[in-house]
Amino acid sequence: MLDYHLHTRLCNHAEGSMVAFIRQAVDRGFEEICFLDHLTITDSPRPMTMDVAEVPLYFQTVQRLKRSFSDRIAVRSGLEIEFNPRYTELFKQIVDDFAFDVIGSSIHQLDGIDIVSGPYDSDAAFPVPETLQRRYLDYLEMMLANEYFDIVCHLDLLKKFGAGSSPYFEDRLAGILSRATARNLTVEVNTGGFDHPAAEAYPSRNILTMLKNAGIAVTIGSDAHRPEEIGRHFGRAFEMIQAAGFRHLAVFAGRSRSEVPVPSLAAADR
Ligand SMILES: [Zn+2]
Ligand SMILES: [Zn+2]
Repeated sequence: MLDYHLHTRLCNHAEGSMVAFIRQAVDRGFEEICFLDHLTITDSPRPMTMDVAEVPLYFQTVQRLKRSFSDRIAVRSGLEIEFNPRYTELFKQIVDDFAFDVIGSSIHQLDGIDIVSGPYDSDAAFPVPETLQRRYLDYLEMMLANEYFDIVCHLDLLKKFGAGSSPYFEDRLAGILSRATARNLTVEVNTGGFDHPAAEAYPSRNILTMLKNAGIAVTIGSDAHRPEEIGRHFGRAFEMIQAAGFRHLAVFAGRSRSEVPVPSLAAADR
């Protein structure tokens, strides 16, 4: 069992020590976990991310825990970088000083505007305006063209408040993904969505099939912001992943990808 998306208190909106996350995973029989905490370049007075100056502390802490738990569980170090086309070179300079195992990227902000902290309308299922969908896909296209990130996190996060996805979104996404086939891309199946109004994983079943057809690999992450959230809803996710035709999940060490079989549904219920 593995979980490739855990947060830490350094991001200012997660609970529990890093050791508590690891102990929870060990107790539940996980073989591998990856801290993928937020790194967002921001001047917000209440940042939902570690500070750039905390990256060395974060990296060294994960390294230390990796060593002290190495006989019980494989602990990987990663970042969830907020994609911002203005900062692509800056991210590389910050990250490349450290031997992270994996670098993920996600989009919560478009042109400095937070798009996922509240619904776009008081009716949660109000469709996401097409201008917003277009800009989100522009960002995604730039993220993939950048060819730096290993994992795309919660690919269809725009549906968070229950809007579902639109034919426009899926058609253009299919085009973007078909052009990403050659570059060893991995997309995360993020089970946090089951606990949002969206009430399904990111991405949807349709998009998972699209990924399979494009030859893109998948991995799994709970997006845990508390130790108890590790592995949440993984049984449902493994069922979707297998139904889409995947037999393996991607894992990473030193930014190099390998694969493990999709765990059994029984393993997910532990
Ligand atoms: Zn978060
Ligand atoms: Zn996350």
